[in-house]
Amino acid sequence: ESTAVVIVGAGPAGLTLGNLLLRAGVECVVLERRSRAHVEERQRAGVLDHAGARIFEEWGLADGVLAGVPGDGGLEIRVDGEPRYLDFAELSGGRTGRLIPQQMLVRRLMGAFEEGGGDLRFDAGEVALHGLDGDGPWVSYRDGGGVVREIGCAYVAGCDGHHGVSRASVPAGALTTYSHDHGIGWLTVLADVPPPRRPLMAVASEGFAAHFPRGPMASRFYLQCAPEEGVGDWGEERIWAQLRSRLGDAGLPAGRITEMSVVEMRSFVVDPMRFGRLFLVGDAAHIVTPMGGKGMNLAIGDADVLARALRAAVREGDGEGVAAYSAVCLRRVWNYQEFSRWLTEMTHDAGDVRVAGEFRRQLARARLERLFSSGAAARAFADLVAGG
Ligand code: FAD
Repeated sequence: ESTAVVIVGAGPAGLTLGNLLLRAGVECVVLERRSRAHVEERQRAGVLDHAGARIFEEWGLADGVLAGVPGDGGLEIRVDGEPRYLDFAELSGGRTGRLIPQQMLVRRLMGAFEEGGGDLRFDAGEVALHGLDGDGPWVSYRDGGGVVREIGCAYVAGCDGHHGVSRASVPAGALTTYSHDHGIGWLTVLADVPPPRRPLMAVASEGFAAHFPRGPMASRFYLQCAPEEGVGDWGEERIWAQLRSRLGDAGLPAGRITEMSVVEMRSFVVDPMRFGRLFLVGDAAHIVTPMGGKGMNLAIGDADVLARALRAAVREGDGEGVAAYSAVCLRRVWNYQEFSRWLTEMTHDAGDVRVAGEFRRQLARARLERLFSSGAAARAFADLVAGG
């Protein structure tokens, strides 16, 4: 069997790429290791930025994928319990994002892909990539029935996340990796609690906390913790007490906790995002901390750049976009790594004095204050939130 592009992984990167290639008239097969049910239920990100929403609009997918999805109008930053607001619609000239839980976006992308005749295969075990540095790569896997299959192709898109097989298939030394540990811990809790009126971040002396919407009846919370702390160090009572105190929200109801984990506050980038005929897309090539909400958006942005490049290569024999893929994506990746790091540092240094000491705490507070006293600083922030 053969196709033009084998896409490994059906997360936001793989499903966006699959849909765009379908629209571009480029044949592809998507191989996903997990079951359909697992992929449909995996809750992670919650904000599609303006640049991400534009991609779906430009490719004619917005009507199906973004129908009924509310806009991301702004952000509240509560400093020691005092509310401060940033109105992104006003600050960015209307370039607002959308509040869509990741699993809803994934489900809709799966629906659009399959309705359009896309070939999406779940439960693909033992995926292996072959001949990546030659002209005719192929991908093997074991299907749900235990049969080993091979698909020949012109290109492979590694959209299989940070722990996938794609990056691991590149010979040692071919890629340069950059990683950074931000030196803080984050506990995240998904709970059946009504969402806040607008996304909320809180800077407090006990540490950073955040309350974000995840659909009409669910919320995602983040709590800064010591880097060595684990889920076992946080009982429910402590979680709700700390959230109420840091968020300055004494009336916050304690809802059923549906998921709880420690987030690795780590950044990672590979350069180049390509080896031979393999292209790394989304988390397979880079991870950014959840701070700033850019991980899913970078994945969608990479998929857009790659879809355009593959359309030109496969349909017109024009390899320019394919050659430029990595450099084009890495410019944006580093810009948003910096945004995420800047926001992390400001909101954490400004809170718990043990994080960075009193001098840096005052600097971080001055930086934070500038967002509310300088229109230019606020607009620069809103511009990065909008993406591009
Ligand atoms: P993934 O979503 O990881 O998808 C990879 C897919 O490949 C998976 O379906 C996996 O099962 C499959 N796969 C893996 N290995 C194989 C294999 N060997 N063979 C076949 N298939 C394989 N981002 C934001 O933009 N905003 C946020 O607010 C945000 N919040 C987050 C909160 C949390 C708690 C977490 C964990 C992440 C958050 N992110 C956020 C990041 C975002 O979820 C990721 O950046 C995004 O999922 C990346 O998409 P992806 O398609 O590249 O990778």
